[in-house]
Amino acid sequence: NTFAEIDLGETMNQNIRRCKYVKPTPVQRYAIPIALAGRDLMACAQTGSGKTAAFCFPIISGIMRDQYVQRQRGGRTVYPLGLILSPTRELSCQIHDEAKKFSYQTGVKVVVAYGGAPINQQLRELERGVDILVATPGRLVDLLERARVSLQAIRYLALDEADRMLDMGFEPQIKKIVEQMDMPNRSVRQTMLFSATFPREIQRLASDFLSNYIFLAV
Ligand code: AMP
Repeated sequence: NTFAEIDLGETMNQNIRRCKYVKPTPVQRYAIPIALAGRDLMACAQTGSGKTAAFCFPIISGIMRDQYVQRQRGGRTVYPLGLILSPTRELSCQIHDEAKKFSYQTGVKVVVAYGGAPINQQLRELERGVDILVATPGRLVDLLERARVSLQAIRYLALDEADRMLDMGFEPQIKKIVEQMDMPNRSVRQTMLFSATFPREIQRLASDFLSNYIFLAV
């Protein structure tokens, strides 16, 4: 029951030690190995359970492992490999801060984009390159419509606080976003859905967007 046993590699283990995480929380202990094995995952996790690391570690580690994938650029369009959707600006910024610590010295670049703030600075940040984009659904749709972000290279998708995103009315945006990923790389995409509750709408979202997934309740 240590992070070293989970085999995330030396750089990430150092970052985990720097974060002073000594042992994995329950959701981390179960979700990380499932995700590292490449399976889709729907996990029941509350705020404070350590869910951020549970989906960030496998995404960062996966991108390091797939490093033959070049960071693509096409004019002003960027092609992130990982996407983390979250309901609010606050949560997106928290995830971004944590993901930056976890990915320190890995070469994996994390950028955040959220609504309710001027878009220009976020555009400039994106232009410098992005491997993992943390975004709120509305702002991401805006970036897609401006063709500043393409989701055609996405290999890892995490939906955080999915129940809250639905409560906030983001379902149409989420559908639009995921549809842009359903390209020939569909079988390559790994999807993780985290939610505190599992009403029928979340189960429907999971059956629409996940394939052959493992359900985890800790
Ligand atoms: P989260 O549920 O992802 O928002 O995490 C809640 C808090 O727990 C954050 O401050 C994390 O930095 C911290 N945390 C997450 N995983 C661990 C761990 N394995 N050991 C100690 N603290 C952790």
